[in-house]
Amino acid sequence: MKGTMYGKYGGQFVPEVLMPALAELEEAYAKYKVDPVFLKELDYYMKEFAGRETPLYLAKNLSKKYGIKIYLKREDLVHGGAHKLNNTLGQALLAKYMGKKRLIAETGAGQHGTATAMVGANLSFETEVYMGAKDVQRQHMNVYRMELMGTKVNAVESGSKTLKDAINEALRDWVTNVENTHYLIGSVVGPHPYPMIVRDFQSVIGQEVKQQIMEKEGRLPDSIVACTGGGSNAMGIFHPFIEDKDVRLFPVEAGGCGLKTTEKEALHSASLCVGEDGVLQGAHTKVLQNEYGQILESSSISAGLDYSGVGPELAHLADIGRIEPRYVTDEDALKAFYELSREEGIIPALESSHALAHVMNMAESGELGELVVINLSGRGDKDLETVFKLKEQGDKEVCQ
Ligand SMILES: *Cc1c(COP(=O)(O)O)cnc(C)c1O
Repeated sequence: MKGTMYGKYGGQFVPEVLMPALAELEEAYAKYKVDPVFLKELDYYMKEFAGRETPLYLAKNLSKKYGIKIYLKREDLVHGGAHKLNNTLGQALLAKYMGKKRLIAETGAGQHGTATAMVGANLSFETEVYMGAKDVQRQHMNVYRMELMGTKVNAVESGSKTLKDAINEALRDWVTNVENTHYLIGSVVGPHPYPMIVRDFQSVIGQEVKQQIMEKEGRLPDSIVACTGGGSNAMGIFHPFIEDKDVRLFPVEAGGCGLKTTEKEALHSASLCVGEDGVLQGAHTKVLQNEYGQILESSSISAGLDYSGVGPELAHLADIGRIEPRYVTDEDALKAFYELSREEGIIPALESSHALAHVMNMAESGELGELVVINLSGRGDKDLETVFKLKEQGDKEVCQ
């Protein structure tokens, strides 16, 4: 990394009034990330509130079925049911040390909003979340969850009333209230230093994996597979292995209903696989856009992967060949969702099911080697309604 860039990606494409806030954040982070008091307190919350460390579990039935050793990093066991809390805890504590009193965030389906609401309540912040009006309707349970924890949810009525409009509103709020407010971004996206900060807080995943796999197997894995929306669970598990050149790293994106686009919409969310250079949420990265540079709506069976861009560091690592992007369709992800539930007694998030499906599809090809770690980024309880509805329609309807 050089300055604010990861190769040609990254940067700070924000209104000038926000530049001092980004500088303040970068400076504070540089100070506290080596501060023993801060680190000790973060460690305390990671352990006692979030429930770390999470197990590295040998999926014995899957391993037997596919003839390779498959380990699952159990981020589904983190408080809240996904890896998201690793980041919201880190950022909220940082904001506390910076003297901020208020947290804001945007959320699509509500998962990041919920993880923000948890730390907002626990660390006593005034917390507001921006959410597209359409998403507020679709995800009323998550809205209720956030409200239970004392967070104010603002329904955004502008534009397409979805995530990208919520992002714009959150940025507008930050411009107005930057003095006392921390903008808590939910993935390795946004202007520098966010991609770096979120990556570092999520790297606890990969650090634990490294130690656990050495204890269990006495060697590093041949490959690591992680689903990728913005890319925080992927960067978190990959980062400590970047210099270990023999470990192949596979980010798996949502292939949705295939890699096709209409004028306004992509039928997938595979920005790393087929996106083009553009600007989204304050960073230069690979994005899904039309010929006029307008951002295309993405789509996926899993709300958490349904994002038109991807973290700039992942875009860079893909360009230089250190990571090898893949995609998995809605249909295959759904099959993997059922299969892990039946084989191992673990119901995975639909996001994580993409990583599982890639391993199931490719186990015999040899590209994954003999020892694979999958980042099981979350649990599937939140997806039961989606899956149940599809089942009633006969599952074949996924992409029709
Ligand atoms: C939000 C979410 C994701 C996608 O976010 P990344 O930043 O790409 O990790 C993946 N899995 C689960 C369970 C999520 O909640």
